[in-house]
Amino acid sequence: MNDHGFVSAATVFADRFYMSDTALRELSTLGGYACAGAGNAEDLAEKIGSSSAVKVIVSEYVPINDVVLSHAPELQGVIAYGAGYNHIDVKAMKRGGVKPCNCRGENAEAVAELAFGLMLSLLRRIHRADAWVRAGEWVKAGMVLPEWASGRELWKKTLGVIGLGQIGARVVRIAKGFGMETIAYDPCMSSEVYSRLGVEPVTLAGLLSRSDVVTIHVPLSSETEGMLDSLALAGAKPGMILVNTSRGRVIDEEALVAALQTGLIEGAALDVFAAEPLPAGHPLTGMDNVILSPHMGALSREAGDRLSDSVVRQVRAILEGGSPEGLIR
Ligand code: NAD
Repeated sequence: MNDHGFVSAATVFADRFYMSDTALRELSTLGGYACAGAGNAEDLAEKIGSSSAVKVIVSEYVPINDVVLSHAPELQGVIAYGAGYNHIDVKAMKRGGVKPCNCRGENAEAVAELAFGLMLSLLRRIHRADAWVRAGEWVKAGMVLPEWASGRELWKKTLGVIGLGQIGARVVRIAKGFGMETIAYDPCMSSEVYSRLGVEPVTLAGLLSRSDVVTIHVPLSSETEGMLDSLALAGAKPGMILVNTSRGRVIDEEALVAALQTGLIEGAALDVFAAEPLPAGHPLTGMDNVILSPHMGALSREAGDRLSDSVVRQVRAILEGGSPEGLIR
């Protein structure tokens, strides 16, 4: 804060997220840092109050757009804290001479591992079993377990990966350890990438019709928004389960609820939603064949440390007029 009560430092954290002590110490030597703890772009703009001290903004969720730009006259760079940068108006940043960046790859292992955690939990009912044992139901039932306790395996199943970038590629690597066949839909990837990863390229419709498990790892964009709508889901292989750790709006949520209710798809494990936090009483919260987590894919301690280091490296590069490693082109 400066004397006028505005958030004022070379680096401003738009919202609240983890930064390691080491990274914070380093930022102190690079013009300092301050946390705005803003709820939205207008709030952030008000808190910055046109301070010329602000050179870099780091944001996990707060939209960074023209409103923010107009209150940060000396802004040089914006860093998305994570891989997704749909909250950053990249065109507006470039127009304003501000470098838009993200921290791609730093949280990829965390998300890929969570995708498998969700898959296994859904297929083996781990979440349900835990609640059942804690509630004393095992004692009541004795050693004859309910039918739902009999799950399904990953071994020899087909995994359909939508989006073969940093996270998708790691998911493929892990899937091979489980003995899964992998197919992927990512029209931007070259045939060399597919063959290096040992994945068969398929169309989206082909992927949905052949996969036992589908996992989504695309960014949210005008192209991917609603890519899994009722038409796409109608082509799902019977018994398919769907895992989404990308962005909620990639799936048409109403169509998903309907597909789960009619049994068109057998289950879903979701870390991300059209509206976050997921509203209480949302139809998804009442379904047994669904696992919900609170957008925590990137939240491992290791990823937090890697993200912190990446932020520091990029702040330094921006302040020195260089090319940050996560520059969005
Ligand atoms: P990435 O940029 O490395 O990979 C994204 C891939 O999607 C690219 O290979 C791209 O070619 C592909 N793609 C883009 N448009 C496509 C389309 N229309 N159809 C098919 N493929 C398409 O990004 P990443 O690091 O793998 O992250 C992917 C997304 O995961 C992020 O954009 C973010 O939204 C999400 N994410 C979520 C969490 C979480 O906490 N749940 C954490 C990190 C990332």
